[in-house]
Amino acid sequence: MDRYRIRPGKKFKLDEFSPDETGDFEGKKQKGIEKFETFRSEIDKLQEVMYSENKHRLLIVFQAMDGGGKDGTIRAVFDGVNPQGVKVASFKTPSAEELSHDYLWRIHAKTPKKGEIVIFNRSHYEDVLVVRVHNLVPKDVWKKRYQQINNFEKQLAEEGTTILKFFLHISLDEQKERFMERLDVPEKNWKFNAGDLEERKLWSEYMKAFEEAIAKTSTEWAPWYVVPANRNWFRNMVVSSVIAETMKSLKMEYPKPDIDVDLMKKLLADS
Ligand code: AMP
Ligand code: MG
Repeated sequence: MDRYRIRPGKKFKLDEFSPDETGDFEGKKQKGIEKFETFRSEIDKLQEVMYSENKHRLLIVFQAMDGGGKDGTIRAVFDGVNPQGVKVASFKTPSAEELSHDYLWRIHAKTPKKGEIVIFNRSHYEDVLVVRVHNLVPKDVWKKRYQQINNFEKQLAEEGTTILKFFLHISLDEQKERFMERLDVPEKNWKFNAGDLEERKLWSEYMKAFEEAIAKTSTEWAPWYVVPANRNWFRNMVVSSVIAETMKSLKMEYPKPDIDVDLMKKLLADS
């Protein structure tokens, strides 16, 4: 899955990444789904250990265009985890109070505590994406944010938070199909906003903004993965693979009991 990780300092062009790609799994959808199932159950078990160990923090950021599959990925990948140790934070248009603080204020407040996985459905990256595309702040303000974000994420990492960032990369055509489905299926109508059509017109502006954001903020301590996301099964497999491998690398362990188990058993039996 390393091929989807963006290396800091290397040239990065988004149009060199095809949203249609299925890597070594071309024509092997069933195999990809099986792989995904394996990674998913690994994540479930690893999360159990993470929660019990109460030591590491994991922050997972999802960004995508509308219809990119953020909700679907979160639902699929975290299907079996213990809800006690996993939270999802969705960032919408900032409230008046949020806007009266700096843009990282609402973000920092949602970062994971020890033992916890927090999933960001949108994030502080909106502040260099939608904010840039719509000129919500002047250019000299958002330009500075790449460095600020790197510093912020570095501080989180140095304090023990593992950070993964995924850009779910779909094509303009794929978005159209997904929007059409949202309009065709009554149960999905709620997901469609009239504003989605306006945003769609700004596709190339968004791609420019994503490209610069990813290039400037993929770091050793908080890497970006550009995930081909036109095929849901492949997207799920890539995301779950990266998360499972990262969690394994933390070498987590169930806490050692601070009791004498045999003695406790004896006392319990006699009670
Ligand atoms: P959704 O995730 O589809 O429910 O939509 C949430 C909306 O909130 C999207 O249109 C985002 O672009 C918008 N949003 C999220 N964060 C920000 C932000 N910092 N500034 C402006 N709009 C934002
Ligand atoms: Mg939306």
